[in-house]
Amino acid sequence: MKPSIIKTGICTAVTAAVVVTVSGMVPTAAAAPVSPDAATVLVGRTIFLDPGHAGSDHNENLARQVDNGRGGTKDCQTTGMTSLNGIPEHTINWNVAQLVKTSLESIGARVVLSRQDDAGWGGCVDDRARAANESGAAVAVSIHADSAPAQSKGFHLIVPQLPIPNAKADQVQSTQGLAASKAVRDAYVQAGFQPADYAGVREGLQTRGDIAGPALTTVPNVFLEMGNGANAEDAAALESPDGQLRHALAITTGVVSYLLSATPAAAPGASGSAGDRPATAPANPVPGQVAPGAAAPQYKTAPGTTVPGAQSTPGTGTTPGTGATPGTGATPGSDDIIGTITKLLQPLAKALGMDESAISGELINLAYTLAATLFGPTD
Ligand SMILES: [Zn+2]
Repeated sequence: MKPSIIKTGICTAVTAAVVVTVSGMVPTAAAAPVSPDAATVLVGRTIFLDPGHAGSDHNENLARQVDNGRGGTKDCQTTGMTSLNGIPEHTINWNVAQLVKTSLESIGARVVLSRQDDAGWGGCVDDRARAANESGAAVAVSIHADSAPAQSKGFHLIVPQLPIPNAKADQVQSTQGLAASKAVRDAYVQAGFQPADYAGVREGLQTRGDIAGPALTTVPNVFLEMGNGANAEDAAALESPDGQLRHALAITTGVVSYLLSATPAAAPGASGSAGDRPATAPANPVPGQVAPGAAAPQYKTAPGTTVPGAQSTPGTGTTPGTGATPGTGATPGSDDIIGTITKLLQPLAKALGMDESAISGELINLAYTLAATLFGPTD
């Protein structure tokens, strides 16, 4: 396949869906929107994105020992996993990060990447933490995919074991970092992804003392494992362009939800004071309209439980406007919004090689969720 061409198609579709969908929703919203202009929602905010690992075109020694943030050392970098069908993790992480970058930039954010391409070197783990700290970011997101026994599945967020020796990292990660991680967790659940059922993950979170990044990072840190590349179902979502888009939209939704729920920092890039309360999802911006993706995150503690309406039905070819589509028949006008989104997703479907009638329900759910997250009340 030609990843760059496919990616461009996805990016265009995502950007257009967010902007145009929202412009259609704002006039009917009772609550004041965050901004009347979708393109400025995150102006003044910087997000640091770290697509985990790096390409192989370099001569660096991965085993070189670097600061682990806990008074010891660890390897500078690792190669990452290779998914079931042979896609290297660094490429999956890179593709998803590009989609997140485009989505965030389309709403005004400044995005700083830990590495500039998917071919060569991208820095040791401590280099990346330093880059995040110096980027002026309001939140830093490390994007990874895991490798575990084939029967294990699901996503999880790694949060650092406390206390962290660095006092600032400890303060930030125990408050804002945790809130940001939970916001991404909630967005994942809302999008129909299942929390991991392995490695001691509880409610989508895994506490670890051996990951250097969060212990060295002094801006709120999200460390995501999107899924298990050795599991057939997880691998399918990690490897495919539409699966990568689903991941990217969930990440974007979580980041935006966190940023909009936190009281604006005193200055762009300042660590701020508000992140210690849990991120909350905005309420449904369109009164009377039932869009499952716009509901507040409902984290289910039972493994495998997903939010009603966000059920993933890959490949079922749900035709928008049928009973399976969120919001259908809820109120007059909701069909118009669905129609708009559907229309805007057509280029995406085309880029993915799908027939336009095969745009899946979860993509539409995600578009709703993202739009609602961007323009719901922030209280
Ligand atoms: Zn990784």
